[in-house]
Amino acid sequence: MALLQPIQPLSHLIVAKFGGTSVADFDAMQRCADIVLANAQTRLVVVSASSGVTNLLVELTSNLDNERRKTLLTEINGVQQRIIAKLHEPEAVSEQIAAILSRMAQLSEALLHQRSKAIMDELLSTGEQCSSILFAAVIRQKGHASQMFDVRKVMRTDSQFGKAEPQIETIATLAQDSLMPLLTKNIIVTQGFIGADEQQQTTTLGRGGSDYSAALLAEALTAHAVEIWTDVAGIYTTDPRLAPNAHPIAEISFNEAAEMATFGAKVLHPATILPAVRQQIQVFVGSSKAPEQGGTWIRHQVEDEPVFRAVALRRDQTLLNLHSLQMLHAQGFLAHTFTTLAKHKISVDLITTSEVNVALTLDKTGSDTSGQGLLSEALLQELSQHCRVRVEDKLALVAIIGNKIALTSGICSRVFQVLEQHNVRMICQGASPHNLCVLVAESEAAKVVSSLHQNLFE
Ligand code: ADP
Ligand code: ASP
Ligand code: MG
Repeated sequence: MALLQPIQPLSHLIVAKFGGTSVADFDAMQRCADIVLANAQTRLVVVSASSGVTNLLVELTSNLDNERRKTLLTEINGVQQRIIAKLHEPEAVSEQIAAILSRMAQLSEALLHQRSKAIMDELLSTGEQCSSILFAAVIRQKGHASQMFDVRKVMRTDSQFGKAEPQIETIATLAQDSLMPLLTKNIIVTQGFIGADEQQQTTTLGRGGSDYSAALLAEALTAHAVEIWTDVAGIYTTDPRLAPNAHPIAEISFNEAAEMATFGAKVLHPATILPAVRQQIQVFVGSSKAPEQGGTWIRHQVEDEPVFRAVALRRDQTLLNLHSLQMLHAQGFLAHTFTTLAKHKISVDLITTSEVNVALTLDKTGSDTSGQGLLSEALLQELSQHCRVRVEDKLALVAIIGNKIALTSGICSRVFQVLEQHNVRMICQGASPHNLCVLVAESEAAKVVSSLHQNLFE
């Protein structure tokens, strides 16, 4: 092994998170290692599973025949082996990876007999377990001291498998005690997305949760900044896949970024901003493929606060229309409805009301890893007892994000001119100064986003 470089004193800890495409293969990991090593303050690295691996693991948790199960295991194994093959000292990690892969096979088999959410979460966690071991090896190959750290020792959550809730104070205590001392000697590579409950059972934070993990660890360690390295050079005015002329935003406020993440800008997991706001930690978003292009800084205060900042799209929305004749001049219908929804652990997203109707969309943000729909038979039956329920799906929510939207004249006429050709199923504006939302048919969503972008930003 190459001679290890001396480690510098730690004064402004930076937590760097690398998403799936950034750690997809050996070359991608090398580029990310260079980003880490370019700043001596970057001591904690949080990684996702290599691109595609979590999707394969999710499929592995479904009801499968043995042949498909084996194919998926082989595919996941292939991703790891192609990285190992490029290491100078593969034997340093190959045993650990083999042990995880064999546990993966064991867990997928256990699911054939018992469909347990705890087993599913442990299975899903194996993707990040592998990528973190391999990433630490890539850093060591570049001559720097690096170690994998099992985040489950500090990322304490409740036992809601599939979408576990982190326990902020416990995480801070555990991280300060057992993770902080390691950062003075080493570059530590740990897993995003996963945690453990009090009984040390593995949990997951919901799809895309690695961004959230990085922010939670930064908060626990009172870091100076969090860097989210992904496949785009920052937060854009809209998803660049939907509008080729979308452009990166140099600086954006916590409020605007939180709205964007909530309303579907996949570049950030919706909960990422919360820990950063609590500790006033700056967040940077950039491309691991092109770090020289710079990216977006998310800060508490920004110089420019434009009325129109970005357009976000959230697909796969469900509209619940509840009709009650008893609601006319009566009290308690909304209270009853919300109590029923809360009992079924459903949070409401948008809402409009008329004299005898309530229309609401369900909040699916950061939905759990089980892939199950939110609307259960039990919930629909319970709601039907006191109103007529109509469910509409194949809808998408388009949100215009900005500042002082509700206080600026002329916004609606500009937006509705663009929407003239489309059937707008629901509109919400006024609750937040930062957004205006419209619900449209899923099939028209991409067109709505690109037309709005063209009109408001190009
Ligand atoms: P990672 O695997 O690194 O976490 P994700 O796929 O979760 O990456 O998020 C990055 C993707 O988010 C981009 O490829 C882009 O298509 C999508 N995206 C959606 N909205 C935006 C936006 N406003 N700005 C940038 N990217 C966006
Ligand atoms: N690997 C997890 C997922 O694909 C978490 C993440 O990438 O953020 O959902
Ligand atoms: Mg992501």
